[in-house]
Amino acid sequence: MDIEGKTKSLNQREYQTVNGEPFIPGSSLKGKMRSQLEKKEGKITDKGEPCGCGQEACKICKVFGAHKNTRHSLGATRILVRDAFFSDKTRKEYETLLKEKGTSYIEKKTENIINRKTGTAEHPRSQERVPSGAEFDIEIVLQVYDTDGDGNALVEFVKEGLRQVQHTYLGGYGSRGSGKVSFNNMKLDDNPFSL
Ligand SMILES: [Zn+2]
Repeated sequence: MDIEGKTKSLNQREYQTVNGEPFIPGSSLKGKMRSQLEKKEGKITDKGEPCGCGQEACKICKVFGAHKNTRHSLGATRILVRDAFFSDKTRKEYETLLKEKGTSYIEKKTENIINRKTGTAEHPRSQERVPSGAEFDIEIVLQVYDTDGDGNALVEFVKEGLRQVQHTYLGGYGSRGSGKVSFNNMKLDDNPFSL
């Protein structure tokens, strides 16, 4: 099954670049979905490691893989999250700014750290981020095996993961307001759905 859509991003840091153009690594979206779902399912381990229980009923292990556990019979990891590159619309904006105006699409934000004793600002830190409204095309492939029935339970689980990311943030600095994303124009095997 193929889940596609666009993520609108108010994001920073949680992207890498290829030829200077930002993209969201599939591993970062996948990792965030997993950790949020583990919290929701009460699957957080004492060591803070991903779930590796390998149990048939554990959707975390089934969909995302049983962490470090090689002795399970769940079969291969069901989910594949592709790297998310700019949508055509955002790429056009990015290229227009860069080539025609010579300005960068990427925002630089400087943050000061206030020294609590003296009250003065020190160590200004500069962060880069893609501007609010930047769109990335996402694609998630979910392999459904015969033993998974119609696969609906797994699809719903993945949708819940996306909802959880939407309720929190993607990437670092979420506590300071960065990384807010929304998923739009979603399709499951070409059939539109909303989260
Ligand atoms: Zn598990």
